[in-house]
Amino acid sequence: MSFSSLLGSSLPSSHPLVPYGWDADWEAEFAPYAEQGLLPGRVVRVDRGLCDVTTPAGTVRADTEFVVPRDPMKVVCTGDWVAVDPEGSDPRYVRTLLPRRTAFVRSTSSKRSEGQVLATNVDHVVICVSLAVELDLGRIERFLALAMSSSSGEALLHKSALSWESGAQPVVVLTKADLVPDAATLAYLVQDVENTAPGVPVLAVSAMGGDGLDVLVAVVGGGTSVLLGQSGAGKSTLANALLGEDVMDVRATRDADGKGRHTTTTRNLLALPTGGVLIDTPGLRGVGLWDAETGVGQVFSEIEELATRCRFHDCAHENEPGCAVLAAIASGELGERRLDSYRKLIRENQRIVAKTDARLRSEIRKEWKRRGAEGKAAMEAKKGRWM
Ligand code: GDP
Ligand code: ZN
Repeated sequence: MSFSSLLGSSLPSSHPLVPYGWDADWEAEFAPYAEQGLLPGRVVRVDRGLCDVTTPAGTVRADTEFVVPRDPMKVVCTGDWVAVDPEGSDPRYVRTLLPRRTAFVRSTSSKRSEGQVLATNVDHVVICVSLAVELDLGRIERFLALAMSSSSGEALLHKSALSWESGAQPVVVLTKADLVPDAATLAYLVQDVENTAPGVPVLAVSAMGGDGLDVLVAVVGGGTSVLLGQSGAGKSTLANALLGEDVMDVRATRDADGKGRHTTTTRNLLALPTGGVLIDTPGLRGVGLWDAETGVGQVFSEIEELATRCRFHDCAHENEPGCAVLAAIASGELGERRLDSYRKLIRENQRIVAKTDARLRSEIRKEWKRRGAEGKAAMEAKKGRWM
């Protein structure tokens, strides 16, 4: 956290955007646009070239065409802070995107392999894991790698651009804790996950009984959070518990007054009554595997550390002589399962990177074609004029 964001309280707390995460840093970032008479706001929903932005003047619908980039990573996204036209302009445009602190990116599945920004300016990635089923530590490792691959705003398609330092902080929440028969078992499960995720906070929570909820409320109270996890992990239940009411009900009531129905029904960014912001987009719900190489290194830091002592710098830790990783397995210092998960993640990650590279190459080819066609059209136009 930067020094000035610690001083965020120096902002008048009555500023209508404070519940949405507005702080002194954003204010400073926005200053030049304020001078131009633009409104600050946070994007709560995006669809096809239009977005809903929460501003001091309420939620406004704005056109993103003005900032349309060719780079899919720079497309306006839920969570972005933007400058929009003041009232009276029609259409209202998003004039600029304030630099993102973090971006949550996924490498899309099957058809398209470009990175897709799912949420931005996220501080906490809450990984929900159900205690109603047997713990799958490998899956938790995967989600952690994804969480840690959330990256700085400048990150583009390349894995090298992903950085953990500027990314969101992961938290593992073991849900449905009420289903665990006794406290000793629960403590053991928490310990197990803590061992898998060194340095990552692990909380056991029961959305139903309320146990552990206060700790989670405190964690998410300090910024913007997303909930990740498999379907059935308890994300919606947790979201409702954090919101203090059933979201669906909230949406229905807002619909009833007929005001801004369109915007409230599908709002993907919500201010929590206890502080903090929750982002929940359909994209986040279906999250698969991102380009997570940096994240892999973070989660498996002890393996990466060992690997620096391998004789060959490109050691695959399969059967190479002088392999420090295999030596650690032999001595019992490193578990086999841990190395297996590491390998699996690396392999999956490489597939995604390969796809991304192929995609990039075809993008570049398309770009050349486009320029070629443009050049040709320009030439034809000239000819037409001169002939
Ligand atoms: P999502 O798919 O991750 O959004 O999961 P849901 O929130 O829909 O929850 C899946 C199921 O788990 C539902 O039947 C919930 O009632 C149940 N569930 C969620 N939280 C808890 C909890 O704290 N305790 C128990 N016993 N069940 C829960
Ligand atoms: Zn090795």
